[in-house]
Amino acid sequence: MASSITGCGALGNMPDQVDELTDSYWMNRALGLAGLARQIGEVPVGAVVVLDGREIGAGFNASISGCDPTAHAEIRALRDAAARVGNYRLSGATLYVTLEPCTMCVGAVVHSRISRLVYGATEPKAGAVESIRQSLQESHLNWQVESKGGVLADQCSTIIREFFSARRAQIRRRRQAQTGKE
Ligand code: ZN
Repeated sequence: MASSITGCGALGNMPDQVDELTDSYWMNRALGLAGLARQIGEVPVGAVVVLDGREIGAGFNASISGCDPTAHAEIRALRDAAARVGNYRLSGATLYVTLEPCTMCVGAVVHSRISRLVYGATEPKAGAVESIRQSLQESHLNWQVESKGGVLADQCSTIIREFFSARRAQIRRRRQAQTGKE
């Protein structure tokens, strides 16, 4: 019986031909969510879950405001999607996120059975798709996730770079004020 199965692993809806425009469109949406994180003083990362061309989940980084170390944009978007769909499995869906996911979020992507992961900027210090390790390539995983990085990478890294440089400037100003310099 097993020998009659062709195209093993195909779940009917693998978006092989998703074009650059579609990826850019959803990454722009994720960037908008990253902007919401920035507004509340969180590191600006945004994520959106898309299934059959429709948004089914969205999230932005909220670890500090939520007193929740797991409240990364990806986790919040996956939770939102699973709740809306009424299923903890999200096969066939694509997760768009502005920054290369960390180890925890790559784990969540696998647990959720997301089919495709698209991210913007790489994260040299904590990225677990290509930077510090290639977690999706680990052989023990029983779920294959197609991944693609570098979508709107410039915009995605600029929003983070500007956030940190603004924060450094703010800290400098505060220090100067404390030490009595004008
Ligand atoms: Zn993460």
